[in-house]
Amino acid sequence: MRVKVISVAIDGPSGAGKSTIARAAAAELGFTYVDTGAMYRTLGLAAYERGTDMDDGDALSRLLDEIGMKIEYIDGVQHVFMGNRDVSDDIRRPEISMAASKVSAHAQVRKALVAFQQELARRQSVVMDGRDICMHVLPDAAVKIYLTASVDDRARRRVEQLREMGSEVPFDEVKADIEKRDYDDMHREVSPLCQAPDAHLIDTTGYTLEQGMNAVISYIKEKAHVL
Ligand code: C5P
Repeated sequence: MRVKVISVAIDGPSGAGKSTIARAAAAELGFTYVDTGAMYRTLGLAAYERGTDMDDGDALSRLLDEIGMKIEYIDGVQHVFMGNRDVSDDIRRPEISMAASKVSAHAQVRKALVAFQQELARRQSVVMDGRDICMHVLPDAAVKIYLTASVDDRARRRVEQLREMGSEVPFDEVKADIEKRDYDDMHREVSPLCQAPDAHLIDTTGYTLEQGMNAVISYIKEKAHVL
């Protein structure tokens, strides 16, 4: 007998707490967490390290074929590999955030990564987060959420995250980076970031992380009828 597969789609701008909240929700529901940003980041890292022109979609698409990107789950945590190299930490560097945003603007790149993401969701129940999940990757998802917060709140949280990873980046720099990525992600031609008409808005401005998690998890449980 085939077990019913459920998909939860979460979109939103940078630093809205999507990955932390989506990961916690997946753990609570017993679903697999799929961080699609990590895939664009991996290609961004490869292009950055190899000096590939980030305006050349065809070159980036060839690069994606070459690098042997793999997703593995180690103790329930998503790790991303380029060949045998685990790049899960390297892709979090601030310069790689910008590279990810650049490479993600190309239709050829998105087509390949979207197909990969859809295949992951066909095989298992997932909580998947990104920018285009509700409208393009999983348009039939049982639950769709648009998670956001004010730019100041998102920048404060990102400063904290970077500090925990050992890098001190000034608030203004982080805020400017987030504003630039918001603008680019919302104004690109292919699959720009926006709230899908059927996505439920959750604004976590002023929330603690725990309050954000509770809001998302209780909405998913109510909507997907899972306990
Ligand atoms: O979510 P995260 O900040 O890791 O994503 C890095 C970049 O990858 C984003 O700024 C966005 O440009 C791109 N991205 C995307 N579509 C997704 C996930 C991420 O375009 N589904």
